[in-house]
Amino acid sequence: MPDEPRLRPSTVAVTAGRPPHEPDRPLNVPITMASTYVATGDLEYGRYANPTWTAFEDALGALEGGRCLAFSTGMAAVTVMLDLVGHGAKVVMPRHSYQGSLTVLADLESRGRLTTELVDVEDTEAVVAACADAALVWIESPTNPALEVADIETIAAAAHEAGAYVVVDNTFATPLLQQPLDLGADVVLHSATKWLAGHSDALLGALVTADDELHQVLLNRRSLTGSTPGTLEAWLALRGLRTLHLRVERAQANAQTLVERLRDHPAVAEVRYPGFGGIVAIVLAEGELAADLLVRKTRLWVHATSLGGVESTFERRRRWKSESPTIPEALVRMSVGVEDVDDLWDDLVRALDTLTT
Ligand SMILES: *Cc1c(COP(=O)(O)O)cnc(C)c1O
Repeated sequence: MPDEPRLRPSTVAVTAGRPPHEPDRPLNVPITMASTYVATGDLEYGRYANPTWTAFEDALGALEGGRCLAFSTGMAAVTVMLDLVGHGAKVVMPRHSYQGSLTVLADLESRGRLTTELVDVEDTEAVVAACADAALVWIESPTNPALEVADIETIAAAAHEAGAYVVVDNTFATPLLQQPLDLGADVVLHSATKWLAGHSDALLGALVTADDELHQVLLNRRSLTGSTPGTLEAWLALRGLRTLHLRVERAQANAQTLVERLRDHPAVAEVRYPGFGGIVAIVLAEGELAADLLVRKTRLWVHATSLGGVESTFERRRRWKSESPTIPEALVRMSVGVEDVDDLWDDLVRALDTLTT
């Protein structure tokens, strides 16, 4: 038999993780609510496996090019991953990583479990230098909320030369815009809560690796720590994943249009956008108060944390005490949704105009 042609990402998003095409089989995997299974099979107990998780894992694994494990949340995946680092070993992490990841890392360091070096992930030379004595190099790209972009390929090569593992948090880019395993990463991490599930209604995390041994280690850690996904959440995330390409394409197109228009607005001092994806950050010219006013004056844009849903949301990040002091007080992170871009702009500009008069 000749090889099947390799399917393109949009087709994979729609078709991967489906039941076989056999009479009377459902097209979609059912929600299997089970804490235990009849003994002597492959599943045995609900903390080890679930057919609904597997369907989601097959789909995301196919998109990332590895084997996927779903976790209860992105933070569960972060915690399991960082816990693998040996006693006293060094972890390199971008200084503007997701707050939760930085907090877990700082906690482990404060308890003497490991050492850390925080880096400016856009300063490739500095990151490469930091890799030299590292056990784990953590990359987030683009970063949350600074939207810095890392040179994953160069950093991964340097990390491997030093014998370090490389994890890439791919939450912002999604596998449609960036495939870290192809760029040399050992593990891809997702908060599937965001773009993958995409409807602001479920929490889920994932780790993907092409290394079978590492996959087994992570599977054991998930079973032992009980950081297992909810069945309904896995099903909702898989439902969301079916339209990932449509949502990302539309959100990105909307973001690009808004970025052009925002750059010309006098109330906006700075627009940060990596050139792809649906997340934009703006810095208000009139400072913190203007940012707080903006998020209260819109009708469509919802003031909310989190991101990657079909609905547009935004947030002044420094309202969180835990946010890095190197993030400007007046920075508003915008998660662009899939609404009509002119409605999104009208709503924004109405609020922005009140800040300049
Ligand atoms: C939200 C987020 C996480 C944490 O995921 P949860 O699903 O909220 O636990 C990790 N990394 C990034 C980049 C995120 O945006």
